[in-house]
Amino acid sequence: MSADRAGPAQVLVIEDEAPIRQLLRTTLEAEGYIVHEAAGAREGETLAGNRRIDLFLVDLGLPDGDGTALIRRLRVWTQRPVIVLSARSMESQKVEALDAGADDFVAKPFGVAELHARLRVALRHAAQTSQGGDARLVLGPVLIDLAAKTVLRSGERVRLTATQWRLLEVLARHAGRVVTARQLLREVWGPAHAEQSHYLRIYVRQLRQKLELEPSKPQFLITETGIGYRLLVEAAPPPGD
Ligand code: CA
Repeated sequence: MSADRAGPAQVLVIEDEAPIRQLLRTTLEAEGYIVHEAAGAREGETLAGNRRIDLFLVDLGLPDGDGTALIRRLRVWTQRPVIVLSARSMESQKVEALDAGADDFVAKPFGVAELHARLRVALRHAAQTSQGGDARLVLGPVLIDLAAKTVLRSGERVRLTATQWRLLEVLARHAGRVVTARQLLREVWGPAHAEQSHYLRIYVRQLRQKLELEPSKPQFLITETGIGYRLLVEAAPPPGD
C-alpha cells in the first residue's frame, strides 16, 4: 500500500468516541490495514512517536486538545498523510485543519466507500511523492502532462493561459485530494491575494469550460462547498502510452 515500506499500511485513529473508533477499526481491518487507536490528542502523539504510522485519521474535537493544533505538531516531524474526521457542517474547522497541513477530510457520518477512497488516494499520493510524483493524469478525454506542461483533450492540444495552467497544476499535484481556496490563491496568485476568492471562481469556471464535458455539471473539477476544490482523476496511463 505504501511503496517505500513493506507490509500493510498502519493507520493511527485519534478519536474520542469509542463507537466511531470501533467502526473505523472494523472497516479498516477488513481492507487489510493495521489499526492503532488513541482516545485523545496526548495518547495519539505518544503512539505516533512510537509506531511506524503510514496514515493518521484525526478527529478535530478531542477532549484534551484541538485536533488542528495536533496536526500542526505532527507536521513538524512527519509528512505522512493526515485525514481529518469532522462533522459535516464544520466547514471553517475543516479549512483550518487543511491549512494546518491535513491532506483531506472525511465528513461524519461517513460512508465506508468514501473513507476507503480517501485513504487510497492519500497513501498513493504519499508513495508517488517519495518517487518524484506522477507526471501524467487522465480526466475522461483529457490528458494532463505535468512535466511537458501540456493538456490534450481527445488528442487535441488545449491552450491555457499561464494563470489557468498554474491553477490546474496545483490541483493536479493534489489530484484526488481537496485543496483549500486559500491554498490555491496563495500558490497561484501569491500570499497577498489569499482572500480574493472571486479570482478563483473566475478561473475555475474558465478551466471547466476547457476540461469538462458539461461545464455546469463538473465531473472532474469539483467544488467542495465552503472549503475549496478537488480534481478527480483516473489512474495515469503507463509511461510511453
Ligand atoms: Ca470528538
